[in-house]
Amino acid sequence: MKKLAAGNWKMNGTAAALAEVQALIAAHPAPACEMLLCPPATLIGHMASLAKDSALCVGGQDCHPKASGAHTGDISAIMLKDAGASHVIVGHSERRTDHGETDALVQAKAVAAVSAGLVAIVCVGETEAERDAGRTLAVIGGQLDGSVPAGAVAASLVVAYEPVWAIGTGRTPTLAEIAEVHAFIRARLTARIGVEAAGVRLLYGGSVKPSNAAEIFAVPDVDGALVGGASLKAADFGAIVAALGT
Ligand code: PEP
Repeated sequence: MKKLAAGNWKMNGTAAALAEVQALIAAHPAPACEMLLCPPATLIGHMASLAKDSALCVGGQDCHPKASGAHTGDISAIMLKDAGASHVIVGHSERRTDHGETDALVQAKAVAAVSAGLVAIVCVGETEAERDAGRTLAVIGGQLDGSVPAGAVAASLVVAYEPVWAIGTGRTPTLAEIAEVHAFIRARLTARIGVEAAGVRLLYGGSVKPSNAAEIFAVPDVDGALVGGASLKAADFGAIVAALGT
């Protein structure tokens, strides 16, 4: 299985930020892992043109479950694909919180993504209150059951474990806590989609940076990272890409 370093730019970046992309592409012409950036939708086309013939893949941060229609401000998976995307993040905790996205909606988005030919990166993760209450595995199990499409296959599904309290805070779970959750996700996926689960990349996300990437990547069942803040600078994201192998 090829590991995956995925960057989520969130609502950051204008055309000026594409200089970072050029630097990343130049510094990592043939990385050992897959390298993906998910910029704001306004930059997908630009970034995909820059990334043509390079090792960089481009993805969206969200998609609508429908292919087209009267949904002002939304973007469909087909449109992302048309703009040059190969992946899309669905169910990021910021969307679950800011836009009230339910597991059922996230699942519908993942189904739309896969039918448009995209890889769906389905995000799950507990809040701090849920962890403190000892509910981490129950919460993640429920999110997986509700958000991962039935019949999902490894080629078009990635799961990102992102503890909500670790996103953008500089805090991370212990390596043992990450190992526990990733082993649980692998087992729960196996119960849901059978042998395909063995090939699904499981990403850890939440305050991954150059200084902690290598130790996190050494945790069993961690097949890469979903990176927010540290994906905005080529040097930082490049160091994380390098930590996934040479
Ligand atoms: C994210 O938003 O997916 C994320 C992991 O952010 P950060 O790396 O900044 O914590």
